[in-house]
Amino acid sequence: MRPFVYEQPTDISAAVALASNFTTRDDQPTRANAQFIAGGTNLADYMKLGVAEPNRLLDLNRLEEQKLRQIRVTEDGIRFGALVRMGEAADHREVKERYPVIAESLRLAASGQIRNMASLAGNVLQRTRCEYFRETSWACNKRMPGSGCAAMDGFNRQHAVLGGSNACIATYHGDFAQALIALDAVVLTEGSRGARKIPFAKLHRQPGDTPHIETDLAADEIITAIEVPALPWGRRSLYLKIRDRESYAFALASAAVALDLDGEAVREARIALGGVATVPWRASAAEHILQGKKLDDASAGAAADAAFAEAQPRQHNAFKIELGKRTLVRALLETRDMKV
Ligand code: SF4
Repeated sequence: MRPFVYEQPTDISAAVALASNFTTRDDQPTRANAQFIAGGTNLADYMKLGVAEPNRLLDLNRLEEQKLRQIRVTEDGIRFGALVRMGEAADHREVKERYPVIAESLRLAASGQIRNMASLAGNVLQRTRCEYFRETSWACNKRMPGSGCAAMDGFNRQHAVLGGSNACIATYHGDFAQALIALDAVVLTEGSRGARKIPFAKLHRQPGDTPHIETDLAADEIITAIEVPALPWGRRSLYLKIRDRESYAFALASAAVALDLDGEAVREARIALGGVATVPWRASAAEHILQGKKLDDASAGAAADAAFAEAQPRQHNAFKIELGKRTLVRALLETRDMKV
């Protein structure tokens, strides 16, 4: 592991100033000179593997602003402080009651140990587990821009069928993010250029020609909170995750669904997909198909077809299209049948 300086700023502005001073403006996270760390469940791994090599690590756990550690429920929605741990949010009574899709996405994301360490902001910013990204001897445009992509002709069973490019097809492996994008969450940030509110749907970038640029955040910008707007019918929501084994593993396919029903008809549907795309994936075409329709096997199947209409399989991952469709159909019908 490359030697690094470890610092513990005590307020947000100090953390931003340190990051700003020690990060070249056009650096991106992999090559940045300074990086933030909170739970460290993803970054520490990648530092040990030599994938991430910050020379200055800014530990956010000493920040004094209490809002960073609070979950606040109001009539406008829920505000999660960035340093709230996954486990705390997953176990929060009102989160479970009002937004089961959020609580389930967090509960199914990782083991209890990881949930107790990982922060919510760190969780949404986690980096891909593409095997070729994790092993530094392989060509990888995300880790080393311009070096190529070993996954294209390699074993790409885990890789994305939606949102990929000729430069990268790495899957976004998080779960919580699917619930957030489905519910139109907003991310609050602070950086040297001021405070921002970023729609969650604009936080992650599809790889295109620059897979090493993964988010819309500047290198000295900190997520301070995630806000989820009030959604009275959010109680009818769930997260379904399909994986190779029932114990903790990344999704092969997942679906976050929330439904507003008028009798048997869909007034509004919110759908996001995980395990199949390069970024948290809102399935807007599927939502549109369902609007005003009776939700049954046929309409759920049509929505699933629409969700994967643009899918581009590679040699080993074509099964994800059928699996993703079945996952979405099952999630829609189970959400319809929830007793709320
Ligand atoms: Fe790297 Fe992306 Fe290719 Fe994986 S899929 S090797 S992360 S460029």
